[in-house]
Amino acid sequence: MFQQPLPMEYTRLSPEETAERILRVRRCLGSNVMILGHHYQRDEIIRWADFRGDSLKLSQLAAQHPEAKYIVFCGVHFMAESADVLTTEEQVVILPNMSAGCSMADMANIRQVEEAWADMATATDTSRIIPITYVNSTAAIKAFVGRNGGACCTSSNAKQVIEWALERGDKLFFLPDQHLGRNTCAALGVDPADEMILWNPHEPFGGTTPEAVQSKKVILWKGHCSVHARFTGEQISEARAKYPDVQIIVHPECSLEVVQAADRYGSTEHILKVIRESPAGSVWGVGTEINMVSRLAREQPDKTIFCLDPVVCPCSTMYRVHPHYLLWVLENLEGGRVVNQVKVKPEVAAEARIALERMLAIC
Ligand code: SF4
Repeated sequence: MFQQPLPMEYTRLSPEETAERILRVRRCLGSNVMILGHHYQRDEIIRWADFRGDSLKLSQLAAQHPEAKYIVFCGVHFMAESADVLTTEEQVVILPNMSAGCSMADMANIRQVEEAWADMATATDTSRIIPITYVNSTAAIKAFVGRNGGACCTSSNAKQVIEWALERGDKLFFLPDQHLGRNTCAALGVDPADEMILWNPHEPFGGTTPEAVQSKKVILWKGHCSVHARFTGEQISEARAKYPDVQIIVHPECSLEVVQAADRYGSTEHILKVIRESPAGSVWGVGTEINMVSRLAREQPDKTIFCLDPVVCPCSTMYRVHPHYLLWVLENLEGGRVVNQVKVKPEVAAEARIALERMLAIC
């Protein structure tokens, strides 16, 4: 994921000049271009988005609009890959800044996962293990899951997908977010202490034993989100002490301790829905990315909404999509040049699509 240096001309633009030029080029490009903005993007990006949402919703929207030849995905790399997998051959997906990756997706590369699978095969029959990957993973990991009988999941549908997997096989191999896997399996009655193990790709045989692989039901990949790992049970206690009426809602990428201490948990779309539908005067302590929480607080001024982490916790990689980069890719399109296209190899895309389509068939 190489990002060429932004031409100096762009880096010198003021916020006002940048906005004026984005407005002009956006009008000029018309419906040929669709701009997608993930919920965790800053306001200066979200204001230009034709649609905002979570990663899968945005990819599906791109697929539902084949008239949009150019999809400018203001998100991170794995999201642009998913959009490329789900859209037509004619559509071109562009990531404004190629260095906008995802720390969680980067914690599972395909070489590590293939090695782990080969190690597991020395201990047990891997045809009885169903691999499931959170959509926050590279296309190569989705393809691995697709060719090994598994499926993708999102934070909204992880429960249904994991139930499906546990009905089909003896074991579950969940990638790359240990917390979403652990929280969801625990909610389904799988004991985290007795029935789950953690696979650490940086240790021989994952830091576990063949006996554990044979006997445990769930193998969790040792990955996490650097944003959601910041939330703690202590922050929840402090919020409850400060606001006796507070309701705590967190994302399932938070630890089991945090999810169990919260009143509710769910995907970004679920958090938005629950808070928007709550009565005026409600008080919400939220465990997810700060840009989304701050925007929600501004949109719902009749409620008290705050982020549980007192230290600002943006998704730093998402933050790399600066308006200067958005302007740069749009003005290049106007000049007939495509920069920063994200293109998944056809053979990888075909297997990744199997994993995504299985998920859509399950839910
Ligand atoms: S919030 Fe976490 S999982 Fe989401 S894109 Fe950022 S680093 Fe990745």
